This record gives sequence, structure tokens and C-alpha cells, in this order.
Amino acid sequence: MKLFNTFSRKLEELHPITGKTARVYSCGPTVYNYAHIGNLRAYVFTDTLARSLAYLGYGVRHAMNITDVGHLTSDADEGEDKLDTAAKRARKDPLEIARAYEQAFFSDIQTLNIKKPAHIKRATQTIKDQLAIIKLLEKKGYTYKTTKAVYFDISIFRNYGLLSGQKLDQKKTLSRDELVEDPNKKHPQDFALWMFTVGKHTHHILRWPSPWGEGFPGWHIECSAISRKLLGQPFDIHTGGVDHIGVHHENEIAQSTAAFGTPLARIWMHNEHLLVDNAKMSKSLGNVYTLADIIKKHIDPLALRYFCLQAHYRSLLNFTWEGLEAAQTALEELRKFMGTTFVKNADSKIQPSQTKVEPRIKKYKSDFRATISADLNTPQALAVAWQLVKDASIPLEDRQKLMLEFDKVFGLGLSAYQTKVIPPAIKRLLRDRALARSNAQFMQADGLRNKIKSLGYSIDDAPEGTYLCYYESQTSTSRP
Ligand code: AMP
Ligand code: ZN
Repeated sequence: MKLFNTFSRKLEELHPITGKTARVYSCGPTVYNYAHIGNLRAYVFTDTLARSLAYLGYGVRHAMNITDVGHLTSDADEGEDKLDTAAKRARKDPLEIARAYEQAFFSDIQTLNIKKPAHIKRATQTIKDQLAIIKLLEKKGYTYKTTKAVYFDISIFRNYGLLSGQKLDQKKTLSRDELVEDPNKKHPQDFALWMFTVGKHTHHILRWPSPWGEGFPGWHIECSAISRKLLGQPFDIHTGGVDHIGVHHENEIAQSTAAFGTPLARIWMHNEHLLVDNAKMSKSLGNVYTLADIIKKHIDPLALRYFCLQAHYRSLLNFTWEGLEAAQTALEELRKFMGTTFVKNADSKIQPSQTKVEPRIKKYKSDFRATISADLNTPQALAVAWQLVKDASIPLEDRQKLMLEFDKVFGLGLSAYQTKVIPPAIKRLLRDRALARSNAQFMQADGLRNKIKSLGYSIDDAPEGTYLCYYESQTSTSRP
């Protein structure tokens, strides 16, 4: 399998470090609010990656963090702690807020058929591990302390900036415009490993003792600590949205490499952003949508998953309601396909030739594998699936079976729509209709067709038999 590595800017063949099992770490959510559909795109991507790895025969060990402390309103060290602010606004305990939104996040991903990574830790569960890394960095001379924080000194880490490819001088000028809140910081890009509960953080609710003073961890250190604890170092694949490249991931790399002398991860994968009406999602534009907004509009949430799969994860994807509705229509077509049964005419002499089918199925399988092995080309994988839907040269049942296999990667939950057993009453009506047709009693045959339709089945006649489909359109999120 070839994956695009942001670090090397190349497609690279995946060779798991420990043989067959790929160890994957995904930056998890900051649980101070509901996930928006852009965040959810990031997790559809990581899920598709994990599913594709499994489909291609790799073992997968998937880990993720939950940020419940330390993520400031700017990804650098400016602003307030997102969770602390949300807690103060709601007059609640930050951990109460964090647990509620964590639950909401897990519920959202379950609705989207995103498998919860098997290994998850919250930032607040790993304070000791984070402190241990900071101590090690201090011992190796990578840190300095001001009245506000313990910082990582990037001037000592010579390889800072390799992931984003930004030169330090460039970064310096870029960030001069930003508000530097600590005048004693040596370089604007130095980042906080530990923040003291002083100044604007005096009333920070979550706080822990440390060798340098009471405080709370900077945002980046949790990912270094949690990935190492759950996966070891180096591991195979690190994921996140493109917004993480310039700051968060550079800082993870700097602190982990400096502390342990080995790279953090081999392959860095980043999903592009989801735009809404071609603009960045923002509260002021009123275009920050959540899964609840989709459900409110009676659109199936899995249409969002289908919508995301239609674009390559490294392409910008523009969300519109029309686009989402089109995705829902396509998804419904796939479900109808899965719900179709072929009922052979009693007098049909046509025998599908099994001998020619096997190589065709094999070809579909290899085409499908080729698309996902090429850096998760999900739009191409969907194209293969649609070709299969339309390929009448392969018996319907074989096509459906293959589609279920493909759905292990798509995660569209198609197995729930598989052909049901046709009730005897419908079978009887079908037989009567076939008889009426063979006797040229077309009015009667039409009447019987309408009767079958009124019972929820659509009918499509073919020379050798009838395709019968039972499907109720999804106007709500729950399956009938
Ligand atoms: P956060 O909860 O802010 O830490 O973000 C969770 C994940 O969503 C991160 O991997 C971000 O990079 C990603 N993300 C944020 N905004 C978008 C967006 N508009 N489109 C796609 N991914 C995003
Ligand atoms: Zn992270």
C-alpha cells in the first residue's frame, strides 16, 4: 500500500515497523464543544485508513487522544484554554464539560460507522507521562523557564520545521504579527510544555503540581506522551488535519525526537479541510454545522460519510446541502441494489455461465484493492463499486456479496439492507402476474404489479425473470 507522506512529500510504500501490524496514531478531538462536520471529515478519513489497512491484510493498532486540557484558542500559546473557557461560561466543572462532549463525539462517530480506535487516552490521564518527557527534555537542555511557562527551545532542535518545510526565519516574520504574550519567550515559535497558573491562567481550574510550579500541560506534549505510551516510538502512521502541520505536529516531532533520539512516526498523513459554501467554517458566518444539523434536515448521517468518500482525503471538499442530498440519493441507490432479489421466471431457460464469472469478480477485487492501495483513492473505489452495480454479466447475488466486501472499507452499513426473504404472499402475486403476462392478460398483470408496489416492492422485468426490491426511503436516521 502506498501512502502520501507529508514529511517526505512523496508516496511511500507502507512497511510496518513490527512486521504486519501498522501502528496508527490520530490526533483526537478537543472536547469543549460538538464536533463539526469538518472535524468529522478528519475521522472518516482515519477510519477509512484503518479499514483499508485491515482490508489489505495488515494488522492495525489504532490509538487516539482526547484533549481535555491545555488546548488554547490559538494553536500556539496565545488565548485561553478552550475547555477552561467553556467551563467558566457554563459555570460547570471543565471535566464535566469534557466528559459530556467526549460522549457526544463517540456518539457522532458511531452514527457515522466510524470504529472507535481501540486505544484511547485522555490528556488528563497522562499528566505523569507528560511530566516525565518534560523532565527528560530539561535534562537534555531543550527547555527554559519564564514566569509564565516552561518552553521548548526550538533553536536547540536543529531540525525544527522539516514537516511543514517552513524556514525558521520565515516563521519568525510570520509570527511577529501575532500577539506574543510572554515577552521572555526567546523565539516566538518556542512552545509551552508546561504553563503556570499565573497571569490570565491564574484561575485555571485544572492544575497539577510539577517540579517547576503548579500548572497544566501545553497542548502538544499530550500527543507525544500518549502515542509513545500506546504505540511505542517510532510508530508507523500519524494522522491529523492539514491545520496541524505547521504548529502542532512540528512541535510533537521536536519534543519526541529531542527527548528520545528517534523519530516519532514514519508516515505523516493529513486530510484536507472541508469547506462550507467554499468558505472556512466559522461562527460569524453561521456555517459551522454538526451532525445534529444534518439529522434535523432529515438527511441520513451516513450520507455525510458517502459525501466524504467521494473526494480524495487530500483534496479540499466543498460542503453544500445540495451536494449532501445528492450523496444521500447515491447511498439510497446502493441500498436499493443491496435490497434487490432476482426471481427467475419459472420457464426461464437462461443459465448464467459460472465459468466466466470468476475472473470478472477477481478483476473487480483487484481493481478495488488497487484504488485503495494508491493512497486511499476512495472516489476511484466508489467508481469501481458503481461499475459492479451495473454489471449485469455477473449474477446479482455475487455482485451483492462483493459489494459487502467493499463496504468493509466504505463503512456505509450496507449489510443492513441486504435482500430480505420474500414473503410467500408476494411470491404468490409474482407467480400470478407471470401467468397473466404469459396469457397476454396485460391489464390484470398491471394490476398485480401495482398491488406488489403498494406492498413496498419495486419491480424491474428482465427476459429471464424479475428484479424485486424492497426499500423504504430514509427520511429519518433510524432503519425501519
Ligand atoms: P480539534 O478538535 O480542533 O483538535 O480538531 C479535530 C480534527 O479535525 C483535527 O485533526 C483537525 O485537523 C481536523 N479539522 C479541523 N477543522 C477541519 C475542517 N474544516 N476540515 C477537515 N478537518 C478539520
Ligand atoms: Zn496531536
